[in-house]
Amino acid sequence: MKSFILLSAFTLIGSCATTKYSTKIDNLKNSIQVNDSTAIATYANTISVEELKHNLHTFASKAFEGRKVGEPGQLKASAFLKEFYKTQHILPAVGDSTYYQTVPQSFLPQGVNSSANVVAYIKGSKVPEELIIISGHLDHMGVENDSIHFGADDNGSGTVAMLAIAKAFKQAQSAGYPPKRSLVFLHLTAEEIGLYGSRYYVSNPIFSLENTMANLNIDMIGRIDEKHKNNPNYIYLIGADRLSKHLHFTSEKINAMFTNLELDYTFNDEEDTNQYYYRSDHYNFAKHNIPVIFYFNGEHNDYHKPTDTPDKIDYRLLQKRAQLIFATAWQLANQEYHLVHNKDM
Ligand SMILES: [Zn+2]
Repeated sequence: MKSFILLSAFTLIGSCATTKYSTKIDNLKNSIQVNDSTAIATYANTISVEELKHNLHTFASKAFEGRKVGEPGQLKASAFLKEFYKTQHILPAVGDSTYYQTVPQSFLPQGVNSSANVVAYIKGSKVPEELIIISGHLDHMGVENDSIHFGADDNGSGTVAMLAIAKAFKQAQSAGYPPKRSLVFLHLTAEEIGLYGSRYYVSNPIFSLENTMANLNIDMIGRIDEKHKNNPNYIYLIGADRLSKHLHFTSEKINAMFTNLELDYTFNDEEDTNQYYYRSDHYNFAKHNIPVIFYFNGEHNDYHKPTDTPDKIDYRLLQKRAQLIFATAWQLANQEYHLVHNKDM
């Protein structure tokens, strides 16, 4: 594996069965080393409010007609994403030649036209076969009762964050800071009708699931919910510790170093009645034993309504949340060790 040193779980937490659990946790926390803090901060700062705003005003515009799966508006939205990656010289992932992974009609419910996941990637410089997937769904609810459901927050916010994150990584790569592992930008179709795009991807993976180190999934990160209206510097994280506490501690450390958002774990409670852990695309990765983090702002009055529009997005907050995800992905793609899974502790 070239000069890329991979420390084993043994080195990190000790394999002695008698090692106290609390000691193992401490060792795990202490094992996390962030080596590129200057570069991380530099490229996180390339994610700008102006660009997020500009892209979201296109992506959640009338022209895309609410991006209903398999309908013309969604095709336009997919073409927009493809054009973005092409313009940025970020590679297509499907056979290295196309950005579209077609999800055939036979995989979808009756009456739903075939559509596609849009997939781009940046190849790792040291261990390209290992990867981090950053995902978010590109579809929404289309037109209902003559009203366009713009889906600016759901999930225009996550989509434009992914574009900004990809562009920041590309800029870093061009300046001599390529990621050591590969980064995959996976825009999923047919989430709103039942997580079909992600299910299709894990059934027909473009990159090895075994070598997929983590999935960072974004679904609604541009708004503020009722609970946080007086202290909006927050994001809900769901799932981070379920398969790998190591991922959870990494995420916490990165946030403390770079973004200082309040990480709200309310919805990560296994007893929480909303059960969000099972309700967006990351769940299909978690089912395959891939550690996930789901980034989410909580619900609001415009959730799944035509009034979920781009003018209601808090772009500064969207920027900061995108920066957190960027920095976390950077760390995961570059750290010189694998994530320890809970089952191996
Ligand atoms: Zn959504």
